[in-house]
Amino acid sequence: MIAALDALREEVECCSGCVLASSRTRVVFGEGDPHADLMFVGEAPGYHEDQQGRPFVGQAGRLLEQLLASIGMTREQVYIANVLKSRPPNNRDPRPEEIEACRPYLFRQIAIIKPKVICTLGNFATKLLSGDQTGITKVHGKPRATEIAGHPLYLYPIFHPAAALYTPAMLTTLKEDIARLPQLLAHAAPAPGEEAAGPPAAERPAWRPPEHLRRYEAPATTVDAAAPTLGDAARPSPEPDRPTADSGAEPDQPSAISGAAPDPSPVSSSPDPPPAPESPAEPEQLGLF
Ligand code: SF4
Repeated sequence: MIAALDALREEVECCSGCVLASSRTRVVFGEGDPHADLMFVGEAPGYHEDQQGRPFVGQAGRLLEQLLASIGMTREQVYIANVLKSRPPNNRDPRPEEIEACRPYLFRQIAIIKPKVICTLGNFATKLLSGDQTGITKVHGKPRATEIAGHPLYLYPIFHPAAALYTPAMLTTLKEDIARLPQLLAHAAPAPGEEAAGPPAAERPAWRPPEHLRRYEAPATTVDAAAPTLGDAARPSPEPDRPTADSGAEPDQPSAISGAAPDPSPVSSSPDPPPAPESPAEPEQLGLF
């Protein structure tokens, strides 16, 4: 798995599949635990990510780390990637042809990592991986069973942390959605004892969402690297999944988009993270969805 990810990383680092290759400083492939059950997918690298070659290292990245801490997790326990691996100039929106060119890499990452839950951050990642053009405002916090590159998993759309940095109401919603993750992960996990009793993980059938959860879900979808085609529908909706200040960014000016920080002020000035959620309840007690 690690060798497969390393080989893919080497391939992406040489990529010139779209115009962004000529303006990027560094490719931002993604990072984290290659065995992670939980994967986050953002939009595209920002200024700091482009400089460092790492995802979510700016102010939004620090907020993401705080949100993870609120549920007892660290960024080292998850995998973090973006739809685009190269930074759009001035942090402009990704273009449909750029998403088309880059998405095979994301799908191959997912096929290698095989997460049980993918948190899509904002509209671009949510629409790409769900194959549904419904905006993030309507679908956030609602897990959906799907299949990506033949791998069954839950998609769990949430607001992009960069947008929540500037909108207190969105931050509150983001905290509430994040607080549900432990329960979703617990019920997406193999039953106790399965790991020890069953064959080695590599020989086991792919994980599938348990039947008892399907009645809570949005309709399942199947998404693969060949479909759907985003086309013009991939253009951003006016929904508030990104701060409007991004659109006016100057060249190489740090921005809140995609984890880049517009200034070095610490995120600790944002409201305190919510208390850790209680231990997972039984499925019928969840009332999650
Ligand atoms: S954004 Fe993706 S497709 Fe475009 S150059 Fe970067 S890695 Fe290649």
